[in-house]
Order: sequence, then structure tokens, then C-alpha cells
Amino acid sequence: MFSVSEREQVLLAPYAFHSEKSKGRRYPETVHPYRGPFQRDRDRIIHCAAFRRLSEKMQVFTAEFGNYHRTRLTHTMEVVGVARTLGRALMLNEDLIEAAALLHDIGHPPFGHTGETVLDGLLLNDGGFDHNGQALRIVEKLEHRYADFPGLNLSRELLDGQAFKQSKNRTPLLEIQVVDVADSIAYDTHDVDDAMEIGLLSTDQLAQTTLWKHSVKRTKERWTNLDESEFRQAVVHDLIDTQINDLLQATRNRIQTSGIRSADEVLQITPLVAPSSEIAQQKSEVEAFLLEKVYRHPKIMVHRGRISHWIEILFDYYIKHPDELPSRYSGVLKHEGAKRAIADYIADLTDRTARFEAYRMLEKNESATIRPIENIFRS
Ligand code: MG
Repeated sequence: MFSVSEREQVLLAPYAFHSEKSKGRRYPETVHPYRGPFQRDRDRIIHCAAFRRLSEKMQVFTAEFGNYHRTRLTHTMEVVGVARTLGRALMLNEDLIEAAALLHDIGHPPFGHTGETVLDGLLLNDGGFDHNGQALRIVEKLEHRYADFPGLNLSRELLDGQAFKQSKNRTPLLEIQVVDVADSIAYDTHDVDDAMEIGLLSTDQLAQTTLWKHSVKRTKERWTNLDESEFRQAVVHDLIDTQINDLLQATRNRIQTSGIRSADEVLQITPLVAPSSEIAQQKSEVEAFLLEKVYRHPKIMVHRGRISHWIEILFDYYIKHPDELPSRYSGVLKHEGAKRAIADYIADLTDRTARFEAYRMLEKNESATIRPIENIFRS
């Protein structure tokens, strides 16, 4: 049987991160006889409660918009898929990539970036709230699954990778760079698909950005008899293929030109995993379009107002009654204060539980009311 390091010697490029070079874990553990460190990390992430909750956390759309669209969990699985494809093609450490991709959105509070913005505002003078930082709190402190240590005791490379997502102040390993671009490829593509299915974007609008226009043209050249739904799916497939092919070619060229020979050298130079400048420019055009036409669509904005109010209701309630927080937050409450403990508690909730709890708080507190949506936008 091949050991993990023998297997990696055969399959990985010299600039990939080899598992035997891992800086290890905060609480030292014995080496597993046949699972590499990042395989163990992957399993720890999948088995933690915060990961399971992603199935009921929104990406862009909530259940009010139907049941076609991505959730935070299915988005994560798409990122894993894209990232592993890129990683294998570039001969990188797929185990590290998979674990980092599974981890990347684990700190998201309920209601996606809206929930994050509201919590950040509520903790403005108390350190703020950021989903990347929250992921680190979850895996280092908040999860309780093992008798020997708090958190999941993940490998240092995964914690460093997640810290990079928060600060972006230095070059990370190629494996972490791959997860970052895979995230962007996944959401730029699946948000188009979801928005069209929901009816926020039309087929005609697809021709309004260069990236989409090219995919539409290629799809029309290849098929002439597709109905609207089949056509949309074919365009989406072309979009994802185009971005992956471009990224692989551009990244291979940069790796070759750089002459890097080790993962250590990767850390000393500017990031190498990125699309070509042409596709990068087209992607930012798509992102600006999505921001204006989808993420700020009036239907989404109304919903955002409602969501913000639910989070504020929960926060207000627990500021007045911190002793009613579940007992697992008592350590944070004692050492880091009520606001951080409440943020940890709210961030843990799924969309459905957050909404349910907000209504329960309202029933308990007759002086508070659900504000009309118009007022939410004015305040
Ligand atoms: Mg993501």
C-alpha cells in the first residue's frame, strides 16, 4: 500500500503543498496510519454542526423564491467540484483543496451577506463581524466535538488559508488560491442560472455582457433546436467551461514563467492562480451587472429589509436578556462580552430558525413590532 507521502510524490507537482510538510495542529495528534492530515480535516469539517447548517442558509435567494436555486451548502459543493477539477489539472494537493473549499463559507450567518452586514453594524464598536473570521472562531473555539481539544483542531495550512480570506494581505498556497477563484467561478455562473430561473434576468439580457454574449453565440452555433430552459442550461455549461479552461491556461503559463519549484517559493511571489486579463475584465463586467440587476433587484431589496429587521429583533432581545442565551455560549459571554456571544449565537442559526426565533421574541415582547418594510428602508 502506498503511504500518503509516496502517493503525493507521484501525483503532485513540486510546487504543490505536500502533506508531510504540514506545520501540524495546535494540539498535537498522532499521525493516522492511512489518512493524510487534510483528509482528516475534510471529515472533521463535514461532521461539524456548522457545516450541516449550511443546508438551510441562503446563498442569494431564500425559499420565498422557489426551490430551484442554490443554498449555501450546494454552493459549497459546486466550489469543491470546480476547485478539485482545477487542482487535479494543476497537480496540486486535492485533499487540502477539498477541505479548504468545504470550510470556505462555514462562518456565514443566516441570510448571507445581508445577515453579515447587519451583524457587522451591530458590533461596529466591538470588533465587527466578518464571515471569514467567524469561520475561524467556529473551527478553533465554538465547535465542541472532541474530548481532547476545543474546536476541530484543523491543520495550520487550513487555518492560514481561511485567515488569508479575511485579510488578503499575503500570497497563500496555490491550493488556497484555487479555492478562491473556484468560489468566484461558481457564483458568477450559478447566480445567472438561478436569477434566470426565478425570472429576475431574461434571455435577452444575457447578451448584455461580453462573457455571456460569447457563450450565447457559441451555444446558438452548436444547437438550433433548444427550448428556453435547455438553452439556458447550455449557456451556463459554456460559461463554466470557458472560465475553467481560461483559468487553467493562464495559470499554467504563469507557473511556467515563474519557474517556481516548491510551495515555499509560491508564498514569496504574487498569486499565480487567476484568469487571463481578458476574462478577468469580462468577469468584472458580469459582476457589476449581477450587482445591479440581481443582488439589488427590488424584490431582493424588499426581502433584505425584512431579514435585517429579524436579526435586529434577535439582537435587541438578547442584549436585554443575555442570561437566556443557550449555555454553550456562556464561556464567550463571560470572557468576550454579551455582544460577541449574541453574534456567535445568531451566526449559528439557520435562516428558518432565525426567522422563527425573531417571531417568538416578538410574541414575548409586546412593545416591539415588525416594522413596515417602507420604514425599514427609510431608517
Ligand atoms: Mg462562497
